[in-house]
Amino acid sequence: MQSVLLLTTPSSYRLPAFLEAAERLGVAAIVAEDTPKALAGRVPGRVELDFADVPAATAAILALAAERPLAALIAVDDSGALLAARASAALGLPHNSPESAEAARDKHVMRAAFARAGVPSPAFRLCSTGDDLAALAREVAYPCVVKPLRLNGSRGVIRADDPASFVAAARRVGRLLDRLEGPGPHSFLAEDFIPGFEVALEGLIDDGRLQVLALFDKPDPLDGPFFEETIYVTPSRLAPEVQAAIAETAARAAAAVGLRRGPLHAELRVNDRGPWMVELAGRSIGGLCSRTLRFGTDASLEELILRQAAGLPIEALSRAGSAGGVMMIPIAQPGVLRGVAGEERAREVAGVESVEITAPLHYPLVPLPEGDSYLGFIFARGAAPAEVEAALRAAHARLSFQVLPEIPLL
Ligand code: ADP
Repeated sequence: MQSVLLLTTPSSYRLPAFLEAAERLGVAAIVAEDTPKALAGRVPGRVELDFADVPAATAAILALAAERPLAALIAVDDSGALLAARASAALGLPHNSPESAEAARDKHVMRAAFARAGVPSPAFRLCSTGDDLAALAREVAYPCVVKPLRLNGSRGVIRADDPASFVAAARRVGRLLDRLEGPGPHSFLAEDFIPGFEVALEGLIDDGRLQVLALFDKPDPLDGPFFEETIYVTPSRLAPEVQAAIAETAARAAAAVGLRRGPLHAELRVNDRGPWMVELAGRSIGGLCSRTLRFGTDASLEELILRQAAGLPIEALSRAGSAGGVMMIPIAQPGVLRGVAGEERAREVAGVESVEITAPLHYPLVPLPEGDSYLGFIFARGAAPAEVEAALRAAHARLSFQVLPEIPLL
C-alpha cells in the first residue's frame, strides 16, 4: 500500500485532523516534522527533516520513498510547502510550482506575482527598517498597512493613517523582527489599505481548476490598527454574484502564483470596486477552524485533501449541514492568564458545539501585533449564518478571563 507523507511542524494545530482523516480513510500516513539539524534525534521514532535544507530533506524523502512508496506529499503547514513542491518533483509526483510555495512564504513575492498577473491587490512598496523612515513616510499613500514579509496570523500587520504612525509602525515591526530573527535591518512591505468586507475562501484545486468548498464571512470589521481574526461564519451572506466574483479572483490569484492542485486558503476583501486579494496559501484553513466544515456524508476538509492527494475518489464536494462558524478569541490585553470563568455557561448557549480554551494558565499573554496565539476557540452551528454569529457572540459574552498584569520579579 502506498503512503502519504505529511510535512508538518511540532506545534501544528492542523496535524491531528489530518491523522484522524487518514485513519478514517485507511490511508497510511507518515509524519515528517520540521526539525532544525541541531535538534535532530531528540525524539526517537520520528521522521525528522530540516525543511530549510531543501536538498538534504529531498534526498531523505527519496530514500524513504524507496522503502515505503509514497502516493503524495502534503504540506500540512506553510513551512513544508517548498519542500513538498521540490520533493514531489524529484519523485515524479504531480506538484505545485516552487514559486507558489515562495509566495505563500513571502508577502512581497506574492504581491509581485499578483501585480504581474493583473490580479486586483493593493499597491505595495518593499521597504527596509534601515531606510530613512521619515522620508518613506512622506512618500507612501494613506491609509496604509505595514507588514513583515514572512510572519503569519496577522503578526506585525499594522495600519498607519499618517506619517507619524507609519514611522511608529515600521519601528514596531523592526523591534518584533529583531526579537524573532536577530538584529536588522529587516525588509517589510508598505501597501495601500484596502477598505471593505473580509472573507476567507477554502477550495480544492484540481489540475488548475478551483472548486470552492466554503466561503466564510468575517462579520467583525477588520479596520486596524491591528487585525485580529475573530468570527468566521459559513455559508457567506454575500450575494451570489459577489461570491462568484470572489471565486474568480481567488482562482486567478492561485494561477498567478502557480498553484495547480491541492488545497487553497485565500483571504479577500470586497468593496464597491469588487474583490481584492489579501493573501493565499496552498494549505487548509488555520487553527482548528476546519472543524466547522463537513462535506457530503460527513467527510472532513482534511479527508477531501487526503483523497485528492492519494488519488482516491471524492464522493461529494458540497458542504453538508446548515451554517457553521468559529470565533477565535483574541487576546485583548497583555498579562498573565490566571483564570477563566463561564466556560460551562458559554457551552450552554443554543447552537454552541464546543468551547476550547487553548491558552495555558499562568503564562504570559501577548496580544497582536506581537503575539501569535489566541485565548481559545468557540464553535457553533445553526440553521442560518446570523444565528451562528449570534451564538458565537453570546457564548463569548459569557466568558470572562482573569488577566493580571505581569509584575517583573526584579
Ligand atoms: P498574515 O499572513 O500575517 O495573516 P495578511 O497579509 O493576511 O498577514 O494580513 C492579516 C490581516 O490584515 C488581513 O486578514 C486583513 O484583515 C488585514 N490586512 C492586511 N493587508 C491589508 C491591506 N492591504 N488592506 C486592508 N487590510 C489588510
